[in-house]
Amino acid sequence: MLIYSSNVGYPRIGEKREWKKALESFWNGQMNEEQFTKTMETIRLDSIRKQVEKGIDLIPIGDFSLYDHVLDTAFMFGYIPERFKQIVNPLEQYFAMARGTNGQHALEMTKWFNTNYHYIVPEIGQTKPKLVENRLLQEYKLIKETFHIEAKPVLLGPITFLLLSKQYDRNEWRKHLAHLVPVYVELLKQLGEAGVSFVQMDEPILVQNIDDDIINAFHHVYNVFHRDIPNINIILQTYFASVSHYREVVALPVAGIGLDFVHDDGENMEVINTYGFPKDKILVAGIVDGRNVWKSSLVQKAKLLHHLAGVSEQLIIQPSCSLIHVPVTTKHEHTLPTELASTLSFADEKLDEIRMLTEHMKGNVTIDELIKYDEQTTVYFSKFRQSKQTDDITTVPLNRTSYSERQKAQRAHLQLPLFPTTTIGSFPQTSDVRQARMKWKKGEWNDNQYKSFIKKEIAKWIDIQEQLRLDVLVHGEFERTDMVEFFGEKLQGMACTTNGWVQSYGSRCVRPPIIFGDIAHLHPMTVGETVYAQSLTNKPVKGMLTGPVTILNWSFVRNDISRKQVLMQLALAIREEVLLLEKEGIRIIQVDEPALREGLPLKKEKHASYWEDAVIAFRITTSSVKKETQIHTHMCYSQFEHMMHVIDELDADVISIESSRSHGELVSVFETYEYEKGIGLGVYDIHSPRIPTKEELSEQIERALRVLRPEQFWVNPDCGLKTRKEEETIAALQVMVEAAREYRERL
Ligand code: GLN
Ligand code: ZN
Repeated sequence: MLIYSSNVGYPRIGEKREWKKALESFWNGQMNEEQFTKTMETIRLDSIRKQVEKGIDLIPIGDFSLYDHVLDTAFMFGYIPERFKQIVNPLEQYFAMARGTNGQHALEMTKWFNTNYHYIVPEIGQTKPKLVENRLLQEYKLIKETFHIEAKPVLLGPITFLLLSKQYDRNEWRKHLAHLVPVYVELLKQLGEAGVSFVQMDEPILVQNIDDDIINAFHHVYNVFHRDIPNINIILQTYFASVSHYREVVALPVAGIGLDFVHDDGENMEVINTYGFPKDKILVAGIVDGRNVWKSSLVQKAKLLHHLAGVSEQLIIQPSCSLIHVPVTTKHEHTLPTELASTLSFADEKLDEIRMLTEHMKGNVTIDELIKYDEQTTVYFSKFRQSKQTDDITTVPLNRTSYSERQKAQRAHLQLPLFPTTTIGSFPQTSDVRQARMKWKKGEWNDNQYKSFIKKEIAKWIDIQEQLRLDVLVHGEFERTDMVEFFGEKLQGMACTTNGWVQSYGSRCVRPPIIFGDIAHLHPMTVGETVYAQSLTNKPVKGMLTGPVTILNWSFVRNDISRKQVLMQLALAIREEVLLLEKEGIRIIQVDEPALREGLPLKKEKHASYWEDAVIAFRITTSSVKKETQIHTHMCYSQFEHMMHVIDELDADVISIESSRSHGELVSVFETYEYEKGIGLGVYDIHSPRIPTKEELSEQIERALRVLRPEQFWVNPDCGLKTRKEEETIAALQVMVEAAREYRERL
């Protein structure tokens, strides 16, 4: 029996976010290219070293990235859009594609399957791909020299790569694939010649509902690989759900098939039990949850592995997906309750679990040792049984008065002009703001000192917004590190880590809170700041809350409790805050749901029940207010083709969504879907430091007005402004307000 331990991908960010810091210093010009490259190499080698020390047999390389692995793939194959071609320095060119330059907009960014990781969407255009630089080969050699190991190069497979890309005619995708395959072959050949034995080819597209054309393409491509590079063992890697077309997939001529046995709803096991698994292939079993922070029950996992060992003679044991979706190590968590802390397992600890399970399967670790490992977690979890307090749901209203009545009441109450201008909530979290929070957390500042600092920031920005002549103001969210963590710290049943960072996009990392028990609203969470901001102005100040679906999707939830029940508990808790804000005279309340779509199951047949729960949760949160109170929501992405009915059912009075990066594609949705409520299509991209011109913004507004009625249109940026600099923010908003006013006067 062959048994190997393996990893799918390792976090890039470093134990203490050294990666983020290096990137930002390089972008700020505080670090030169040489220092930057050196620092990044150190981070990369450190993570390899750790995996070596943990005794992992197949260590991934090429999973490291300076920004995003999809961008890396595009870059490596020469998919450089025309507008960046004149940039000579490759690193500069790479970051220009990711972040835009003064003058050129960045590539689009979107969520990676159902995660909160964002990838850069490659633009295919007319490019004929070529192998610009075999990064994997260099890395393989370096790792071999440094550690004397045979690492496993990881590569995004050609089919997933193309299907995730844009700017080409989908009817011609096979033509583009035909261009790409020889380049992959060339790359793999070079790896083969250097002695590489295993390559992990990620094709997560295989877990979605794919058609015969795509399956045929898989046959074709992997037969070519098999024919042209017979000496490389390709592991065809899937994750995040069960594979569709199981029988076709396991028949492909590859060495191993990587399956997710954690997020597959039991379906991978089911098909294996029904159809068996080919004798000549390695079963690459993703069995330790790569997307959650709890310790595995090793006894259960061992049971599963013993079952799989009966199915296949060759077994590779690994996490269910890349570990970039979990924090690096629990080693630096000192503030969590000890009992809770002892139930957690981040990337490093998960690799220890992989190692233990592998050794168990080899007969070197006994079942008693596994039982002992599981004990603490079991005891802890049994203490936090979920109660049935969601019974109150039945008494909470789910419907408001009709939109037309609400609209009348709100018009009279709010007196807003045509094309009201607003922002999404947060203003720049400058180093002053972060330092203040740090001083307070360390105890150098007392509560009052910190509170008065926050008040000063709020007052300053109310003033700025008044001067900018924005119509609906916000308090700026200076008291929040993060829109989910902030509520995580205040709600019962949630805990926050100190160093549990996970990459979200680019250098931006988030610390998802941990949901360990029943959720409840304990005390006002946002009322103080919002009411203070409102006291400084006659214009309406929007109250800012994070919605239940987003809190759920951006937290780590215990695997052994019902997600639906947690969701409804969150809805009830946020509802209480909504009502408190309303009671204190706040006339507009925004309930952000940027993660609404990302929790959507990857398989279509599971969508309906997800949407149903999400809509109910949102309506529990927002339907108890008076008709005069305007409910806003915000989502930061633009693929609304298939979810307009859901957006409508949320019944928010105004929704703001991202649209500037999709360059008008979104607008077409409203050509076919008649939407009557208020809507703000983001007119400029906040992910880029670039200040938009008035012409660009006018163009965005004009485009939107081709499909939307003037009285439903709001003007706002794509998302919150917390990551931007103050000057950038003010300059951009000034252009935005001017563009809106110009349009207003024209009508
Ligand atoms: N209100 C939040 C902010 O402005 C929304 C952030 C988001 O959608 N991700 O920061
Ligand atoms: Zn957003």
